[in-house]
Amino acid sequence: MSEVLYSANELEKVVADLAKAIAADFPDRQLLLLGLLKGCQPFLADLSRQLSRYQLDLAIDYLQVSSYIGTASCGRVTIKPVTVDESFCRQRHVLVVDDIFDTGLTLKEVMAWLKEKGAASVKSCVLLRKSGCSDEVLTPDYWGAIIPDAFVVGYGLDYNEQYRELPYIKILGADEQ
Ligand code: 5GP
Ligand code: MG
Repeated sequence: MSEVLYSANELEKVVADLAKAIAADFPDRQLLLLGLLKGCQPFLADLSRQLSRYQLDLAIDYLQVSSYIGTASCGRVTIKPVTVDESFCRQRHVLVVDDIFDTGLTLKEVMAWLKEKGAASVKSCVLLRKSGCSDEVLTPDYWGAIIPDAFVVGYGLDYNEQYRELPYIKILGADEQ
C-alpha cells in the first residue's frame, strides 16, 4: 500500500509558484541553477521552464551528491562536480536545487563547498521539506511543500534507484521496500 502525496497537476502548481517567488528575488540577475543529481532532475527541468517566463539570465549545472543508502542517511556527503571546470561557480549567483530537505546535512555541505569555490552568493531551493526536520543546521531559502516525516519516492526521488520516473510523489509502502 502506498499513498500519493502530490499528483502531477499539484506538482506543476507548486513548481510554478516557486519559480514566481524566485524570479521576484533575482531581478536583472544572472542565476546559476545548480541541481543535485540525481534526484533534482524532473524538478530542475520543470523549474527552469517555469523560470523562462521571467527573463532571467539562467545557466544550469549539476553536482553529483549522495548521502543516502536505502531509506537511511549514511551521514557522509560526497560531492562531485559534473563539469570539468572547477571554477564553474566563481563570482556566480548560485541557486542550489535539490529534491528534498531532511536533516539539512547535504545542503549545508554543498553550500559551504560552493562558497569555498568562490560563488558570489549561494541560496537553496528544495521541492519538499519534511515536517519536524530541524532548522538548526540551516533552513532552505525556498521550498515548495512540507510533507510528513516519511520516506517518499517519485518525481526524481528514488528507493535504491527505483521509482524516479513516477510523475507524482508517494510515500513508499512497507511492501515496496
Ligand atoms: P538531508 O541531507 O537533508 O538529510 O537529505 C537530503 C537528501 O537525502 C536528499 O537530497 C535526498 O537525496 C535524500 N532523501 C532525504 N529524504 C528522502 C526521502 O524521503 N526519499 C528519498 N527518496 N530521498 C530522501
Ligand atoms: Mg539528493
